[in-house]
Amino acid sequence: MEKQTKRATDEEVEQAAKLLLEAEYPIALTGAGMSVESGIPPFRGPGGLWTKYGEPPMNGFQIFMADPKKAWEQQLARRDDELFGPLKKAKPNPGHRALAELEAMGVLHFVITQNVDDLHRQAGQVGLAEIHGNFKLVRCLECGERFKWGEVDLSILPPHCTRCHGLLKSDTVSFGEPIPRDALDQCASHASRADLVLVAGTSATVYPAAGFAHEVKERGGKLIEVNLYESEITAFCDVSLKGGAAEVLPRLVKAVTRRRRAALS
Ligand SMILES: [Zn+2]
Repeated sequence: MEKQTKRATDEEVEQAAKLLLEAEYPIALTGAGMSVESGIPPFRGPGGLWTKYGEPPMNGFQIFMADPKKAWEQQLARRDDELFGPLKKAKPNPGHRALAELEAMGVLHFVITQNVDDLHRQAGQVGLAEIHGNFKLVRCLECGERFKWGEVDLSILPPHCTRCHGLLKSDTVSFGEPIPRDALDQCASHASRADLVLVAGTSATVYPAAGFAHEVKERGGKLIEVNLYESEITAFCDVSLKGGAAEVLPRLVKAVTRRRRAALS
């Protein structure tokens, strides 16, 4: 059982800020813990969506491909239920805004997220790969083009791509579905340049996301973790900051700002 430990000290936050400023190409890896403070319930655990509604089938992609019309009908019927309600209402929290700020400051170069909630985009993050997709988008399985839900003609199901007539599917990656090539390529390219990974709100155990963090560490890069609980990667981290992303990341931005000012004066 995970146990909560003390919250990150100012010294630990300073240490993380120092590493961030020393690194040449820091990137971030984020997961569900990032959005809990935006009111998005976790999938697993007490009150979790899957605990309540049952886990999605492990062969969800196969089911979709076997009968796309039926899968679309079911998805449309479900779209406003409790699964999408919290996602639609959610707003970025101070943690999302802190990462966007680090990017605007030129400190953070890219964010890889496992979240489908669109909140990094809404916070203004530009360099971003949503490796599990984005719940607000629909993706062409042939050419990879993405469309907003509102732009897709749903009068005939399943809908098809206006560019190549390929089959459209919600951008959210189903179990058994390959991670979209473009997102994966972007991640690989940024991870290969990275010398620091800031891991926030994820235990970094789900591949391929976890692989990017481990790859950078194995090359001699640094790992900083921001998590409420001790996780599987805590032991590998150079600095582990305990606490919620919405609380810890703004403190990190402040420390980075202060250090930069001090270096200039
Ligand atoms: Zn297409």
